Amino acid sequence: MSKQIKIELFTLEKINTKVKSASRICFEQGCNNHAINSHILQKNGILSTITTNGHLYTLKANIVEAKAKFTKTGLNNVFTFKGFCNKHDTLLFDSIEKNELDISQYKTKVLLSYRAVLNELRKKQINIDHYNGIKDSSTLKELARRMPLDILINNETLAEADLQRLSNLIREDIDHGTESFHFATYSIPKVEVCTSATFNTELRNEMILKRLSGRWNEPVNSLIFNVIPHGDKTVVILGCHKPILDKCLYFFLELAKDPLKFISDTFIKNIETWVCSPEFYFKQIRPREKGIVDEFSLYPQQRDYTYPTRIYLFK
Ligand SMILES: [Zn+2]
Repeated sequence: MSKQIKIELFTLEKINTKVKSASRICFEQGCNNHAINSHILQKNGILSTITTNGHLYTLKANIVEAKAKFTKTGLNNVFTFKGFCNKHDTLLFDSIEKNELDISQYKTKVLLSYRAVLNELRKKQINIDHYNGIKDSSTLKELARRMPLDILINNETLAEADLQRLSNLIREDIDHGTESFHFATYSIPKVEVCTSATFNTELRNEMILKRLSGRWNEPVNSLIFNVIPHGDKTVVILGCHKPILDKCLYFFLELAKDPLKFISDTFIKNIETWVCSPEFYFKQIRPREKGIVDEFSLYPQQRDYTYPTRIYLFK
């Protein structure tokens, strides 16, 4: 590793720590309290069931080397985010935090979805701060020249607006009990992976068409995906706002055909953050890690979700 790269990595890490530890304001409208660090998924009872000595593995993007990498991470560092202040977090999420998850309830699914979306929304805000930090850093001038920072910031800002819109729709639904989201739920034998995330369903061609026709600012079709270890089962919940269900049908049909294959495909093609147990990492991933990372790195540019993957995570 050259001296230049080392300095860049060090400075990036400093910016990363700064933007991640920066205090954030509670997502509740009109509340100015600081947000507390909360888990998207229950730490005890969900995440803890797939950890070994408090550890999990996750695939992390490295922007300097433009490559993703599997990293060992602590239970306290994954799926936590600064969402709400203590009061509002408790008011909203007590029913999925304190009790055994009741996945037969619509309310449970919509609350899980709300947290997943707000986590992604916060991530976008952190990413924007991160890119601006690179722009402003005097030691990262060379890296800033190599990176299309303005495009990245613009993309994150559009994504932030989409997620803001989606989170508002979910919140309206929670507050008024309108049940305006569709959820497909499957219970399968336990697999030691987990996610709580959103992804958009538009193909690269559709995105380009949108841009060319000046509709670039239109919101994208977002799906919300939860894969949650629960007792000796894994619960898989795919959801979307009902009005876009027909546009997202492909994904619901793929999930119904083969839930495991669907998890594998979306983890490789669509989802930014998912975790697995150390056992799963050493057995299923380590022996073909390079292939998986290459495959993972291939898709964000391609954005063709119907394109077949060459890797099956659960083989
Ligand atoms: Zn608050």
